[in-house]
Amino acid sequence: MFFASDNSGPVHPEILSAIVRANDGYAMAYGADRKMQQALETLKEVFEAPQAAVYLVSTGSAANALALATLSQPWQTVFCSPQAHIHQDECNAPEFFGGNKLTIVPGGDKIEAAALRSTISQEESRGVHGPQRGPISITQITEKGNVYSLKELHEITRVATDFGLLVHMDGARLANAVVRLGCSPAEATWKAGINAVSFGGTKNGCLQLEAVVLFEPEFAWEFELRRKRGAHLISKHRYLSAQLSTYLKDNLWLESARQANRNATRLAKALQERQIELVSEPEANMIFFRASRKLHQRLFEKGAVYHLWDGTIEGPKNELITARLVCDWSLSSSQLDAFAALF
Ligand SMILES: *Cc1c(COP(=O)(O)O)cnc(C)c1O
Repeated sequence: MFFASDNSGPVHPEILSAIVRANDGYAMAYGADRKMQQALETLKEVFEAPQAAVYLVSTGSAANALALATLSQPWQTVFCSPQAHIHQDECNAPEFFGGNKLTIVPGGDKIEAAALRSTISQEESRGVHGPQRGPISITQITEKGNVYSLKELHEITRVATDFGLLVHMDGARLANAVVRLGCSPAEATWKAGINAVSFGGTKNGCLQLEAVVLFEPEFAWEFELRRKRGAHLISKHRYLSAQLSTYLKDNLWLESARQANRNATRLAKALQERQIELVSEPEANMIFFRASRKLHQRLFEKGAVYHLWDGTIEGPKNELITARLVCDWSLSSSQLDAFAALF
């Protein structure tokens, strides 16, 4: 009954055995191991991007902060949504690594093209005194579990192109979006005008693996330097390589995400059958629902673990509080049904 996040679950057994297999003998450090070369080639094939530069790090915050620092200058702003992980959940790491500032595009978790255009238009009006326009960062799937359609992605990147700006995608859960959209990873990213992706693994079965994919290779060397200077070049790198190659092999990354999305669909349906109010129909592996504090308290007492979104567990019993449930690949149907039965 652990729905706090999709990084609360176990490491996928195939990934864990790959790590154990990688533990045999010796290998060159810092990404010079043999597995790494193969894994990089596979990732570039997955994205149909032979020209891309790919680097591995161990946290999504590092991936985001280093990618955005590489795509921007210290005097620029990074445009993002009010819900963005880079804004809310990274302790200012993006500002720290990039030396720049974030500018919030008013609206919800999904950036809308019109709001983006007007926010960008307002920036740079103070000449040398003001912040200069920099990259746009969007999260796919969003922090609220929503999925940008390909059309919406194209609308955003068209705005970026109009202003000559780059676009970064925080893809901590990109896999969940790709299976939802039913498109290719290339269509979900560079073919939609995305310049760089933080490609998540940890929330989808890896131990600690995030890849940064830079579709323009001219950023490669700067990224390498920033990663090392930022203390994120992992020396026992073969364990990252092993995770990446197994994550991509036989589409394990897509299978895991498909299972996670299916789990959320099953749970959402079960909750709806119990007259629980969902904030919206789940599009990937997250469910937001509203219920009385009394119900949340009862679920917590029975051992359920999840985050309340807009309130605390103490307070008036009948007040409605929104909560978030995140499903990972590992949950079984019986676990889901047992949890739903508590409502
Ligand atoms: C989990 C997550 C990350 C990465 O977080 P770390 O804890 O740094 O690994 C980045 N972006 C989003 C949207 C996330 O949900």
